[in-house]
Amino acid sequence: METKAFELMKLPFAVDALEPVISKSTIEFHYGKHLAGYVNNLNNLVQGSDFQGLSLEEIVLKSEGGIRNNAGQILNHNLYFEQFGKTAKSAPTGKLAEAIVRDFGSFDAFKDEFQKKGATLFGSGWVWLSSDQNGKLVITQETNASNPIQQGLCPLLTFDVWEHAYYLDYQNRRPDHLAALWQIIDWNVIEKRY
Ligand code: MN
Repeated sequence: METKAFELMKLPFAVDALEPVISKSTIEFHYGKHLAGYVNNLNNLVQGSDFQGLSLEEIVLKSEGGIRNNAGQILNHNLYFEQFGKTAKSAPTGKLAEAIVRDFGSFDAFKDEFQKKGATLFGSGWVWLSSDQNGKLVITQETNASNPIQQGLCPLLTFDVWEHAYYLDYQNRRPDHLAALWQIIDWNVIEKRY
């Protein structure tokens, strides 16, 4: 049976639009090589498997090994690249802003904790802001290709701390990269996810 293959997402910005926070070169490798590679791998792996025809989320929740790793990385990168825009809304408002103050004390305290969790994640992975079933906000560290949906959480915001996300621009200075990312987060996108 012919089923539709997974496709590389479309970026909501030009490849040089996030400079100097994320360079054109990093976007070209991160999106055009790494993410495209995960899409290609997953399409090859699911062909003829029990996972053919399932959504990315279903595959992440039900599979393991190479299929889950590639599906998880596609899901993670789709959420990651969709959240950026240089002329976008620079801070949350409304119920998300209220929840951040309620659960972290202030927007600045939230950003500090989020950056710290990203900087201290050992090896490759992702730091996430998610909401639980009651709307409470939590920050989690996920290693490798994991996504908060595996813990029943709704993912809202993420920083990729795999070296491929920053090494061309920042080399070993992961904390500097994380601190700069706030300049390009579009909080309109994050609010819609909450
Ligand atoms: Mn990545």
